[in-house]
Amino acid sequence: MQKIKCDVLIIGGGCAGLSLAYEYAQMKSSKLSVCILEKRESYYNDRTWCFWLGKQQNFSHRDIVSSSWRAWRFSSNNQSYVHHSENFSYCHIASLAFYKKITKVIGEDDRQTLLLEQDVTKIEKSGKYFSVEGPDLSVKATNIIDTRAYGADEILEYTKIFQAFSGVEIETNADFFDTDLVGLMDDIHSSGVKCQFRYLLPFTKRHALIEITSFSNIYIPPAELAASLQLYLDNLKVSYKIIRKEQGVLPMGINHPPRSHDGIIMGGMKNDNLKPSSGYGFLRTQSWAKLVAMKLCSGDLDTGFEKVNHYIPKFFDDTFLRVLDDNINLTEEIFMGIGRNMNSDSFARFMSDQAQALDFIRLVAAVPKQPFIKAAFS
Ligand SMILES: Cc1cc2nc3c(=O)[nH]c(=O)nc-3n(C[C@H](O)[C@H](O)[C@H](O)COP(=O)(O)OP(=O)(O)OC[C@H]3O[C@@H](n4cnc5c(N)ncnc54)[C@H](O)[C@@H]3O)c2cc1C
Repeated sequence: MQKIKCDVLIIGGGCAGLSLAYEYAQMKSSKLSVCILEKRESYYNDRTWCFWLGKQQNFSHRDIVSSSWRAWRFSSNNQSYVHHSENFSYCHIASLAFYKKITKVIGEDDRQTLLLEQDVTKIEKSGKYFSVEGPDLSVKATNIIDTRAYGADEILEYTKIFQAFSGVEIETNADFFDTDLVGLMDDIHSSGVKCQFRYLLPFTKRHALIEITSFSNIYIPPAELAASLQLYLDNLKVSYKIIRKEQGVLPMGINHPPRSHDGIIMGGMKNDNLKPSSGYGFLRTQSWAKLVAMKLCSGDLDTGFEKVNHYIPKFFDDTFLRVLDDNINLTEEIFMGIGRNMNSDSFARFMSDQAQALDFIRLVAAVPKQPFIKAAFS
């Protein structure tokens, strides 16, 4: 069995674990040794990360943004609304570019070690130290940062609204896509149990990601959405080949009972790094990573600082989820209302946790009032 001793152990080398390792790598003066344990055997392009980024916004990974758009569309039946923004771009990072960039940075940092194929199974605290074990590994660490997601059972039990999606990246044999415009929520329609829409990221005229997404308070397996996706692809007026598939189920809001952290710093989903009203997590994770890296270096660690979800956005996220939960039939009207009535910059700020009071007022003004008022006071 391999034995390791380190100052900081990061469990999980996905988006959160690697983002933290990257931010720590920038802080050259710190002498703390960091070890990252990741379960997977290797990194591959398992997901796309998209998010709204302001022109001047401080962001560590502009170098790997591979596509960005200034316009995004909401559509339903024969209606369509397009948001254009001069100040915000909807940006895309391919996960493999991110994994490559950060594993290289870690490899060049003498203080940090990344170990793959390490499935952590046990964490114990004895005195000042944590003992962590995997099948062939034992680690003694002073600090632990745990970025593992909730287990499938916990997600099923505690999720408020499930966001399920099934998508494909395709290449067509002729120019087909409008590269200026993202289909953020196309063909929105709601039924008794779910709201469903299509998502289109046109990387080039011949290359795009197309997903079918649903929001529902019941679990809908992505395989169910794959049938709708296939139907859409069958009717595409162009020949195409599938080059990659992507699917998942994200919890929009988790009602997990409070748990004892026992001195462990939480990251990822367990730290609310997925924005409840959207399931987006990349930007929140970047803010979390900067904060935790700074605290690590200043020796000012506690387990309460890591939350990046402030009261007002949380209130609006929770209200929004309650509205979805109680009024799934109204979701088409709600999202089309946002597309039609909400200012594009206000929307981008809301989606990226930068909303000001006026943006929240604009959101409330854009959607049907009664369900929001009811949800806000329930
Ligand atoms: C397909 C997909 C697309 C998404 N697209 C977007 C998007 O466009 N925009 C956006 O903002 N958000 C998006 N998200 C949401 C969110 O940003 C991502 O889920 C993000 O990867 C979350 O980061 P994380 O570090 O919390 O989890 P992960 O990236 O999943 O990292 C957790 C890591 O922990 C490892 N691990 C788990 N158990 C163990 C163990 N026992 N021992 C060691 N390691 C372990 C896992 O292998 C994994 O690598 C998407 C999510 C998915 C699934």
